[in-house]
Amino acid sequence: MSYVLNVAPVPSIPVKGTDDRFPVRRIFCVGRNYAEHAREMGFDPDREPPFFFTKPGDAIVMDGAEIPYPPMTGNFHYEIELVVAISGGGLNIKESEALEHIYGYAVGLDMTRRDLQLFMRKIGRPWCWGKAFDNSAPIGEITPVAQCGHVDHGHIWLDVNGERQQDGDINQLIWSVPEVIAHLTQSIALAPGDLIMTGTPAGVGPVVAGDRLSGGIDGLGGLSISIVDPL
Ligand code: MN
Repeated sequence: MSYVLNVAPVPSIPVKGTDDRFPVRRIFCVGRNYAEHAREMGFDPDREPPFFFTKPGDAIVMDGAEIPYPPMTGNFHYEIELVVAISGGGLNIKESEALEHIYGYAVGLDMTRRDLQLFMRKIGRPWCWGKAFDNSAPIGEITPVAQCGHVDHGHIWLDVNGERQQDGDINQLIWSVPEVIAHLTQSIALAPGDLIMTGTPAGVGPVVAGDRLSGGIDGLGGLSISIVDPL
């Protein structure tokens, strides 16, 4: 058997302190998982069940990359997030066993065409054109659990052109990482290589070509990207 086209390369992310890479399968994202961010998006941060959307695995962008300003938007937003890298998987993972399925953690940006997301939401169409597009998932190196332990607290921040825009703590997550994994696997079977972007703290806002974004989470590698002119 041979393929009728060249097989696309497997998207992957460097693993801290090694020459190895983490092969990426799918990217699941949690919506509105910090109360202050839910409020700034116009919602009551009641503890309703978490909800999810996805990005394609090949939306990943490496640390240090330049991202062309994307088409179909005039309001291109950053969302700094804790990223969970899955090495196990399955359906109906119990909260008490969820941590066993985690390979490591990273800092990521859920880049968003906010105007398109809000317009699609308003007219009752899927969000995906606002969230799942080329270069929409910059992710820094993955720190294995063996190096950083499990991340349930710690400062998370994002600077744009050297000015602090987002400033929170992982302990402000409405749904913790084990709770997110338990909820997500009620709907789909997680698999090795999946990533989960866990939601963003308050302070989201727009960027334009020429801006430099630099973020981090205590104990993990950082992430810096630049926005450049559209293709
Ligand atoms: Mn997000």
